[in-house]
Amino acid sequence: MKIAILGAMPEEITPLLEKLDYIQESYANNVFYFAKFKNHDLIIAYSKIGKVNSALSATLMIEKYGAEILFFTGVAGSLNPNFKISDMVYGTKLLQHDIDISAFGHPYGYVPDTPIFINSDENLNQLALKVAKSLNLTIYPGIIASGDQFICDDEKKKWIKGTFDADLAEMEGASVALVCHSLNTPFFILRSVSDEAGTKAEFDFDKFMISSAKISANFVLKMVENL
Ligand code: SAH
Repeated sequence: MKIAILGAMPEEITPLLEKLDYIQESYANNVFYFAKFKNHDLIIAYSKIGKVNSALSATLMIEKYGAEILFFTGVAGSLNPNFKISDMVYGTKLLQHDIDISAFGHPYGYVPDTPIFINSDENLNQLALKVAKSLNLTIYPGIIASGDQFICDDEKKKWIKGTFDADLAEMEGASVALVCHSLNTPFFILRSVSDEAGTKAEFDFDKFMISSAKISANFVLKMVENL
């Protein structure tokens, strides 16, 4: 199977590239890495941060390079006091918290002809739970809110959590979900918590980003191994 693995930042895919022999190709300001792994053809890239960058990379992986399923691996800020730094959370539903045409009476996160929440693939979510169990690891389901902002403010955190019942804040999941949903491509979005998205979250992010990125990337590779 042709499988895409996408991160947003270099640190999110380096743990994968370190384990693989690959060739690479540059296109549209992205570098795509191609590797064979357990009878699968992997296409790996980091998109650069944000919803637009990640939408572009995900689209290219599917439309140009023929990926049949897509995994996103990376880090996120936790909005849920039960999810602590380094915990793994996969997105069951994803939404864009910074879409706002409420001036016209619409709910936050909504634009016409697009659902607010996009559901991820149930088979891949079940596979994640099975793989976690076999490795004696814990992985949690959660609602992921994406927007083009690093959330490091208690009020903003509370608003996102309260408005969407979201568990994580990050900057790419919902745009990747929208692309995959529109192109009928099953997807799985995994985040390991790097910070708690409140005031001064940037300090925790700097401290834990690399270790959390590694936790997420290693798990995604285990899932691919079990496909
Ligand atoms: N330090 C980086 C910027 C990181 S932006 C630089 O200087 O270039 C944060 C990245 O991690 C995004 O890709 C986002 O998806 C994720 N992330 C982790 N914690 C987050 C938070 N609290 N709010 C939003 N995104 C977060």
